[in-house]
Amino acid sequence: MDLNRNDSPHNGPRNPDDKQKKNIWLILIITVVAVLAIGSIYNMISKSQYTQTTWTDFRASMQAREIVEAEIQYDRVIYLTREEAEKPAAQQKACYTGLPSSYQQMELADELIAIGATVNRVITEDNSTLMMILYYLFMGLLIFGFMSMLTKRMGGEGMMGGFGKSKAKMYMEKQTGVTFKDVAGQDEAKESLQEIIDFLHNPQKYTDIGAKLPKGALLVGSPGTGKTLLAKAVAGEADVPFFSISGSDFVEMFVGMGASRVRDLFQQAAKVAPCIIFIDEIDAVGRTRDNRMGSNTEQEQTLNQLLNEIDGFEPTKGIVCLAATNRPEILDKALLRPGRFDRRIIVDRPNLQGRLDTLKVHTRKIKLSEDVDLKKIAQATAGAVGADLANLVNEAALRAVRKGRKAVNQEDLLVSFETVIAGTEKKNTVLTDTEKRLVAYHEVGHALVAALEKHAQPVSKITIVPHTSGALGYTMQMPEEEKFLNTAEELMTELKTLLGGRAAEQVVFGVKTTGASNDIQRATSLARNMVALYGMSEELGLMAPASVSNAYLDGQTYLDCSQETSAKVDEAVQRLLNKAYNAAKQTLTEKRALLDEISLYLLAKETITGDELMAYVNADQSQPSEPEQTEEA
Ligand code: ADP
Ligand code: ZN
Repeated sequence: MDLNRNDSPHNGPRNPDDKQKKNIWLILIITVVAVLAIGSIYNMISKSQYTQTTWTDFRASMQAREIVEAEIQYDRVIYLTREEAEKPAAQQKACYTGLPSSYQQMELADELIAIGATVNRVITEDNSTLMMILYYLFMGLLIFGFMSMLTKRMGGEGMMGGFGKSKAKMYMEKQTGVTFKDVAGQDEAKESLQEIIDFLHNPQKYTDIGAKLPKGALLVGSPGTGKTLLAKAVAGEADVPFFSISGSDFVEMFVGMGASRVRDLFQQAAKVAPCIIFIDEIDAVGRTRDNRMGSNTEQEQTLNQLLNEIDGFEPTKGIVCLAATNRPEILDKALLRPGRFDRRIIVDRPNLQGRLDTLKVHTRKIKLSEDVDLKKIAQATAGAVGADLANLVNEAALRAVRKGRKAVNQEDLLVSFETVIAGTEKKNTVLTDTEKRLVAYHEVGHALVAALEKHAQPVSKITIVPHTSGALGYTMQMPEEEKFLNTAEELMTELKTLLGGRAAEQVVFGVKTTGASNDIQRATSLARNMVALYGMSEELGLMAPASVSNAYLDGQTYLDCSQETSAKVDEAVQRLLNKAYNAAKQTLTEKRALLDEISLYLLAKETITGDELMAYVNADQSQPSEPEQTEEA
């Protein structure tokens, strides 16, 4: 969502007139070249219509009275010999010869008439220069007009703008004037970026110790979450120039253009280093290269150039490349390799506190009336990103002006909330209260089941802030260490955790929602693997009726067995899933009070950490266990 892109490079302070001028120059140059080319081609064609002869030949034909028709132009004679004239009209070819300057045109005409030739035309004045000028002028105007029309049609900066340096939508700010104070929330992201700032301030400190300096970081998050803003703030904090360009600007229709633009960008940056290069929408160039039909050489060249540039600059130079994307999964692996964009900085949608802070940042310079309660607005805007909130505040201010008021009141904010946020509801998920409750219980269901199991991976974060992937909330589990082997118990626990969401919906509300669909798919495929690949079911024992087609390609499994076995596999999968689901339901029923408590807390805070979750769980466990109180709700 790009509601408020006022600060974005495209609308930045770069002077649009400059570009217009460049474009006109470009068109002019192209016009001249085209006219000259057309002129010379025309010349060639027109000459090839005639048989070139020499003056001596011509005189010989005259003497032999072989000429029937002639046209005398200022410096040439075009004539038809008798031999040619006797041929059918279509095959006749006139001759062409230069006229020596010592000859008078009229004199020659008289001579020709004397030998009985017809003289069609005699041109005594040298008007060829004038004609040429007129011709070039005419062609020039024609081509110029055509080109301008073409560029206009293509959105003002279409094809003609696509040449080399002239268009590069690169945008450089000596000082961004943005600091971390202007970026609300996003504390984790700021923290990760702090090191880069420090490095830009004082590269010596790092090189002295022999540390490899960071070259790039990837900012990952939905549009409007403040990635550009953060990058600018890094430049502002470090007090270095800020270069920005959008990945889509590299995508050119001419092979090699994108690459030359990348080279240009890095060259310019190297001149003013230390500096920040910000590449927005890097997925436009950095899309993974394989498994596409045919090869897109242009994109490939651009991407290679980008990789070369990143590898090429000395880390001590102090160039840091920040790139933004909301689809990190489609990026070419080469981009993410160590030494390139190997750091990933998540720029999340803001939670309640983050939204409140964003509103505060954007109302700093706005006169608010007494009745304004920003917290209420923040509560209402779950799922909104920074750009939405900035836009909301601005809309409210405009509304206040329209109504002739001196300050923005709560009503202004509420009304613009409806137009700005609700208007984008389809793109952005803004949940109703009931939905939020369902999502909260669902997520806590996952988290609580995991927290109570000893084989589970620890929960690191639970959130009901909708996510880019379309998930309305999620529970993140972080393995303590990277694992390559799993036991059957661990997999069973994972099944239970996956189904914990649906179990909570059932236990608390007695409903089934579509929100569990992804969980169920994952659980099913895990259970299927347990049965058919890992030999973990009672029914089939050690038999592995499935094979993995090609672990390197897509790792898809397919069943390689009889119909009966296949049916057995299905049964076994079903049984495993039911077992896990029932276990999850039982856990949640037993711990209903804890489930309620944590869910309410999550509803209020929207995002909670694993530690907060464990604090609740531990507090519960340290209490003497009460007699079972398992009434269904
Ligand atoms: P992105 O690059 O992620 O699409 P931008 O950085 O362009 O998003 O954000 C657009 C605008 O939204 C910013 O210029 C700013 O006004 C507002 N904005 C976004 N996130 C924040 C934030 N965390 N704090 C303050 N303003 C924000
Ligand atoms: Zn779930």
